[in-house]
Amino acid sequence: MYALSKLEIITYLNGHNDDELFSLADQVKGKVFGNEVYLRAIVEFSNVCNKKCFYCGLRAPNSKINRYRLDLPTIIEAAETAVLNGARTIVLQSGDDFSYSRNQIGELVRSIKDSHDVAVTLSIGDRGLDEYAYWFECGADRCLIKLETSNPELYKQIRSGESFNERLNRLESLRLMGYEIGSGIIVGLPDSNIKDILQDILFLTDLKLDMIAAGPFVPHPDTPFADAGAGDLLQSYRVTALLRILNPKTNIPATSALDSFDQRGRELGLGRGCNVIMPSVTPSAHRADYNIYPGKNSVAIDVSDSLAQAKNMIRSLNLIPSLSKGSSKRSSNNVQ
Ligand code: SF4
Repeated sequence: MYALSKLEIITYLNGHNDDELFSLADQVKGKVFGNEVYLRAIVEFSNVCNKKCFYCGLRAPNSKINRYRLDLPTIIEAAETAVLNGARTIVLQSGDDFSYSRNQIGELVRSIKDSHDVAVTLSIGDRGLDEYAYWFECGADRCLIKLETSNPELYKQIRSGESFNERLNRLESLRLMGYEIGSGIIVGLPDSNIKDILQDILFLTDLKLDMIAAGPFVPHPDTPFADAGAGDLLQSYRVTALLRILNPKTNIPATSALDSFDQRGRELGLGRGCNVIMPSVTPSAHRADYNIYPGKNSVAIDVSDSLAQAKNMIRSLNLIPSLSKGSSKRSSNNVQ
């Protein structure tokens, strides 16, 4: 039984009452999170990827991108600067770049956790479960494994033959290991329709996730989806608002993809059910090369400015940048 019927969800997705939907989502968010917005500082430490996802600029066949890999001291320095500037969660993110060994990732996690009272999130793709188990022992708290769609056939198509069930099983295994888990979708993928979006919303809700991200599709010129139409920004807000109502305690970020459509994209998201902002703290020399979609990380700023901008934006909305780690309010796996 969902807090909204399927008919109500479809009616909202069709845009019949956006004001009511966004206001309801904001109220639900306020009851659970008050005025606080959680900050997750993302260090995008490598844009090398062995996968071929049709929607992503980091895909292995894209020869136009400047590839980079940060060394461990540089990653740790970026994380430390983020912590000194108020971040209480560090997200270590990369493409599926298996050149970093199990021990190197473990060393990164340990180094950050031993020096600071922060949560560490891993967003590094389809690594082995034995590796994830080791990183959990090293102190990693959370994992992000995006599904992008709940339609296995569409998943296979957009992720160039990958298995939806394998990805889903990985997510469930990480939950059992003790991680807080997050996933998400892209709203408006080519060949998707409103029934797919309904299915995505219900599927993500049934997964009882600690974090859900839903951002609009942005076509990248150097991918097979270069000529596809962009997702609908308003529809993306409807999706996050509906996810908020159906998942009151789940952390839901205002994704950076929103800003690709509108400079105030994330600000609007914070008033429509989102409670998390994830500023990139990747060193400025490489930020623009983490080009998953056009517009991502397009402004070259340093770590402290990136966090200061995020905090100023939050305050400008009469909200408060949280000083907590922002652990899941629904998980038994959470950290303080
Ligand atoms: S979505 Fe992730 S796995 Fe797919 S190509 Fe991009 S970085 Fe690689």
